[in-house]
Amino acid sequence: VSPAHSQPLRTALTSVLTHARSLTDGEVASYIPELARQDPEQLGIALASVRGTIHAWGDSEAEFTIQSISKPFTFALALDALGLAAVTEHVGLEPSGEPFNAISLEETSGRPLNPMINAGAIVTTSLIAGDDDAEKFAVVRDGLSAFAGRRLDVDEDVYLSELDTGDRNRALAYLAQAAGTLASSAEVATRAYFRQCSLRVNARDLAMMAATLAGGGINPLTRERVVSEDVARWTIAVMTSCGMYDASGDWLVRVGLPAKSGVGGGIVALQPDQFGVGTFSPRLDARGNSVRGVGMLEQLSKEFGLHMLEHR
Ligand code: GLU
Repeated sequence: VSPAHSQPLRTALTSVLTHARSLTDGEVASYIPELARQDPEQLGIALASVRGTIHAWGDSEAEFTIQSISKPFTFALALDALGLAAVTEHVGLEPSGEPFNAISLEETSGRPLNPMINAGAIVTTSLIAGDDDAEKFAVVRDGLSAFAGRRLDVDEDVYLSELDTGDRNRALAYLAQAAGTLASSAEVATRAYFRQCSLRVNARDLAMMAATLAGGGINPLTRERVVSEDVARWTIAVMTSCGMYDASGDWLVRVGLPAKSGVGGGIVALQPDQFGVGTFSPRLDARGNSVRGVGMLEQLSKEFGLHMLEHR
């Protein structure tokens, strides 16, 4: 997406937003009570090229919590610090086909199947350096802020709401602890994980974060190297196979872009070496993916021939 193409892009994006506004299916997440307060009509999209050009439409500055979209980025930070072999001793790389909060640990190794489901994400957060949850969260926040190219803050209300109602996530952490795959105490891991999920972002931040992965680990605006090229590629690979909850296979056929969604209503998607996209719309389908976000990315992929397996 270069500036030379911005006129057709603008026309296409206007049509994408108009079409998305007509989609009114789905429900705002309510299992974290504070999320239910979101305005369901919000709709934004932003695109960032690996050269740092940004295009944004609709409610692209509206903030929401990152939720599960934090998972690939924290996974990337763990990989960058520890390497693939050490990280995969604790968490696998296999799509689970199960819902995000499934009680899913491999029988023999006790590892969660992948870092994109909650069990695997909590284990990943436990691998981040730090003696307690405050130290681990500080590393996560610095890292995710470096991906975004600006300082990200926590939504304290959402954090407290998750802390209050996150028993299932605590249970997942205790199971991983019992299996020996958790690298900290279950309480430390879940508290750091809840804070990580409660970081506030907008569609523009998500586009920059994805563009940093697309650019091989270098933030297009700050030019900071956030993770290595290998780590960016490994992370994109896991997003490709496991990024859209138990709709990942369906998404790969219909949209064909590495992506990750979150129950706050955001989705990130990217094309390696080209660009990152961030979308925001809080109404979710039954699997937890933003209805309008999926609609916009599906239309964009079709219109611009973005599917990674497109015959050229
Ligand atoms: N913090 C949420 C949870 O753990 C994240 C879930 C999501 O976005 O899928 O339940």
